[in-house]
Amino acid sequence: MSDVIIIGGGPAGSTLGSYLSKAGITNTIIESSIFPRDHVGESLVTSTTRVFEEIGFLDTMESEGFVHKYGASWHAPAGKEFKIEFREFPQEGINQDYTYHVNRSKFDQLLLKHAEKLGSKIYQGVHVKQVMFDGNKATGVQIEVGGKNLYLPSKVVVDASGRGTILGRQLNLKVNDPIFNQFAVHAWFKDLNRGTGPSAEYIHIYFLPIEQGWVWQIPITEEITSVGVVTKKEDFKKSKGNTEEFFMEHVHSNPDLSNAISSAERINDFKMEGDYSYSMKQIAGDGFMMVGDAARFVDPIFSSGVSIAVYSAKFAAREIIHAFEIDNFSRETFLPYEKKLMAGAKVWYEFIRLYYKLIPLFTHFIQSEEYRLQILQLLQGEVFDRDEVPVLDSMREYIKSVEVSENHLFRKHLSPIPLD
Ligand SMILES: Cc1cc2nc3c(=O)[nH]c(=O)nc-3n(C[C@H](O)[C@H](O)[C@H](O)COP(=O)(O)OP(=O)(O)OC[C@H]3O[C@@H](n4cnc5c(N)ncnc54)[C@H](O)[C@@H]3O)c2cc1C
Repeated sequence: MSDVIIIGGGPAGSTLGSYLSKAGITNTIIESSIFPRDHVGESLVTSTTRVFEEIGFLDTMESEGFVHKYGASWHAPAGKEFKIEFREFPQEGINQDYTYHVNRSKFDQLLLKHAEKLGSKIYQGVHVKQVMFDGNKATGVQIEVGGKNLYLPSKVVVDASGRGTILGRQLNLKVNDPIFNQFAVHAWFKDLNRGTGPSAEYIHIYFLPIEQGWVWQIPITEEITSVGVVTKKEDFKKSKGNTEEFFMEHVHSNPDLSNAISSAERINDFKMEGDYSYSMKQIAGDGFMMVGDAARFVDPIFSSGVSIAVYSAKFAAREIIHAFEIDNFSRETFLPYEKKLMAGAKVWYEFIRLYYKLIPLFTHFIQSEEYRLQILQLLQGEVFDRDEVPVLDSMREYIKSVEVSENHLFRKHLSPIPLD
């Protein structure tokens, strides 16, 4: 019997396994796929470096040759470009001014192997059917092997099942986001023209001339570039399911992107992701926790997902280690985790909401001497342990002033998204 069972071997599950093994807590990661498997979410933010270093994974990131990401660039519909570089704001405890773009099938496999090397027991190709409970207390999981159901007991069960959210669904804790019901279509392209100079390897975000619509351009290798179109789900529905037409129509609606992709060749099938913003009524309970996407998912405009996944693992590990020290696995023991993760995710969420509320404000703030570094700090993923985030208050105040001033230049760009 393992002390902890972790459902899912994505970045959240593998990182958690790594922290627990380092602390001498036995753990089993049960993963339904057989790695390598494809996954969306290919561009990291710099805060992840701190976690990779702590679990001893940073050397692997370097030796495996993932593309270095030094910055980000946003392209307005009219062709104007705004850039940031991570080195403008050095981060405490991080000794490099870049992060990485990753082929997720390779990255996730390496991270899972790393967890195994540190001591996690890994089962791949094994599906967790449900979490087992005695009253309110999780006692283990039921898995299916060779057509038979087996019960695996543990002191703690952690749901790291990603957007599958096994526990959130089982306990009816999942709350779909009232504002963001986005849809994404993405694929890899060969020979997309990424330009020259350092920004060729940035993430590029292209604004589309439709509400809540944008495209990512992420370098995966020297030749391969990932491109994803994100719109409101209702906009995708209007395309009547013609994926390629939908994708190309939007890609060609931004002049910079249209030029970049014109001579590129698509090298894999389009993949789709839908219904992907939600929160949970609680993310910790007696004998259980949720980490990564299984706990919370916010719109990926700022590449926050893997960072939230690995930080949730770090914070969950801390409370699990404490629980073993005091031999108490109650919701009360795990509550500091819930508070900490929810507070950090809320900062991301507010940033994203204000961004979509008035997109030109974001480009205005990143060009402003007063706010640029504060925005950059958020884009680096520094959202945890912050009592105050003054730049979000300033964005909010600015938006309110635009709402009441009829002649403001930005007024026509206000979206109907509620401010609170
Ligand atoms: C359109 C889109 C774009 C994105 N772009 C970015 C980006 O650029 N940068 C970024 O950082 N993030 C991005 N993300 C988010 C990112 O994909 C996730 O936040 C990240 O993968 C979360 O990691 P995880 O470990 O929580 O979940 P996952 O990586 O999803 O891993 C969960 C694992 O659990 C397994 N599993 C599920 N159910 C079971 C079960 N019942 N039994 C056993 N195993 C199970 C799955 O097979 C999977 O391997 C994006 C997301 C979307 C939707």
